[in-house]
Amino acid sequence: MAILVTGGAGYIGSHTVAELLDRGEEVVVLDSLVTGHRESLLGGKLYVGDLRDKELLAKLFAENEIEAVIHFAASSLVGESMKDPVKYYDNNVYGTQCLLEGMQKAGVNKIVFSSTAATYGEPEKVPIEETDRTQPSNVYGETKLTMERMMSWFDKVLGIKYVALRYFNAAGAHASGKIGEDHRPESHLIPLVLQTALKQRESIAVFGDDYPTKDGTCIRDYIHVSDLADAHVRAVTYLRGGSGSSVFNLGNGLGFSVKEVIETAKEVTGLDIPVAIQERRAGDPAVLVASSDKARSVLGWNPSRADLKEIIRSAWNWHSSHPQGYGEA
Ligand code: NAD
Repeated sequence: MAILVTGGAGYIGSHTVAELLDRGEEVVVLDSLVTGHRESLLGGKLYVGDLRDKELLAKLFAENEIEAVIHFAASSLVGESMKDPVKYYDNNVYGTQCLLEGMQKAGVNKIVFSSTAATYGEPEKVPIEETDRTQPSNVYGETKLTMERMMSWFDKVLGIKYVALRYFNAAGAHASGKIGEDHRPESHLIPLVLQTALKQRESIAVFGDDYPTKDGTCIRDYIHVSDLADAHVRAVTYLRGGSGSSVFNLGNGLGFSVKEVIETAKEVTGLDIPVAIQERRAGDPAVLVASSDKARSVLGWNPSRADLKEIIRSAWNWHSSHPQGYGEA
């Protein structure tokens, strides 16, 4: 039996496919390649197409014996979601509806969902726990919370079990150096910093250096993409064991400040990284860190690449050997 990975040609999806293949799993990928890259797949059977194409989904489920789904396919740019909410409801919410409908028809009853810690909005306390209030402050986070709620009802009514994984920033690249992060446009700090080191950008913008943190810059949570891949595979094992639906945060301890990320990147690359201090951005909390106590105790998840230097070193290994990512767009 195979595991279907939607969005498997994307950044986190491709690392999860690699992890599944390493563990001897059979993998089927559905990806429209709208932001993903065919070259990022180290194996598996790829269907190029859209989640919202119900005929294609029916064909995929008919042609393969799917045991469980790992669902990454989504639009995930916060800024874009605040300009084009229709795109986010259509791709994320309606796309998930089509997927769940396809699963129901095919009798597939396990799904691991790549959600986001943006479901919490501005936290009341840190580290954030699963039981904390969810009040998304952008359309992207709201659609992800809606997708989780949809899954909860599909469980109650149809018995489709789900695990939702909520986390902040994926970072780093695969140990093989063959796959890594290539988002276009890029919005994540670590690749932006490394692109600055490579002189592809003039400077890295730091939004505010007067926050009440140890060095005045915002503290964020970064998790190595292969540790995230491991968590997704563990969640499949958890559902295979007959456990009920659940939500888990994935976090990396205390988090790292923006300045710490830049200083560590300078150390790792040995290159100059010019910084441009700018005004704070509206709605940027000082600290965003998720607690992973529950994932550690229930899933046995123990991120083994949690060190910032190791995360940046693996990202640098990818960016310095693939300065154009997977190539021309
Ligand atoms: P990505 O854009 O690299 O991957 C998404 C993949 O889904 C792409 O390959 C894209 O082509 C595909 N896709 C999108 N819409 C599709 C559709 N309708 N049909 C078929 N394929 C479609 O993004 P990523 O950074 O790998 O993120 C993956 C998931 O993890 C997303 O759902 C995102 O919300 C979530 N997430 C990411 C981060 C992060 O830091 N990158 C943090 C928290 C949550």
